[in-house]
Amino acid sequence: MEEQLRRDLVRYAHAVHAAGWVANHDGNLSVRLDDGRYLCTPTAVSKADVGAEGLIVVDGTGQRLQGTRKPFSEMKLHLAAYRARPRVRAVLHAHPPTATGFAVAGVELGEPFMPEPVVSLGARIPTVPYAFPGSDDEIRGLQAALRHGDAVLMANHGVLTVGPDLETCFLRMELVEHLCKIAMVARQLGGPRPIPGNDVQVLVDKRHKAGLGPQAEGVVGPAGPAPAAPAVAPGSAAQLVEQALKRFQG
Ligand SMILES: [Zn+2]
Repeated sequence: MEEQLRRDLVRYAHAVHAAGWVANHDGNLSVRLDDGRYLCTPTAVSKADVGAEGLIVVDGTGQRLQGTRKPFSEMKLHLAAYRARPRVRAVLHAHPPTATGFAVAGVELGEPFMPEPVVSLGARIPTVPYAFPGSDDEIRGLQAALRHGDAVLMANHGVLTVGPDLETCFLRMELVEHLCKIAMVARQLGGPRPIPGNDVQVLVDKRHKAGLGPQAEGVVGPAGPAPAAPAVAPGSAAQLVEQALKRFQG
């Protein structure tokens, strides 16, 4: 079992690099083992060069138990994700360029504009507000967002996905990146048209029936809507684009 998980970790580290979602030493992957231990990629290694021998095992506080390389500093985020979502078995973090472009511009995907992703990802992809990397605010923001979805944008940073295995995490990140590319094109053509009427709710019900998402896992989110979108600074490029798009859309 652990051998298979090691093979998966190496395979998906390479896949994340091949997809162009990371540069330099960016990105990190982990899986939850059965006894409160976590298998993860080491820090300071290109995801293209991750090998089974370089993987490390840490405990629930991030202390290394096995391996010679150092754990990555964002392991704190992964551990926070596992605490927020007890049934999650894998976490993937990367910087896919289009989705990260939305995250750094402070632009959300907004209302659902295609039906299938509502079933796969939910009605909305939450954004974790910017906070200093590794800070308690960042951890709290991530945990709040993960009570609303399995894929989250992290403002000024990137994307994080959770799931029952790395394959699911990978496919969720692929879908987020794909949706952001579609949204970019749609915005140039006047903006995506939201799905009409009650259809989004019907799709969300389908999602719950399929056992997908935090609610189906019994994770009870805090009352109220998903965390607010990151504030777009007045006069910033992002705000100018938003204003231009609004004018363009009439
Ligand atoms: Zn990162």
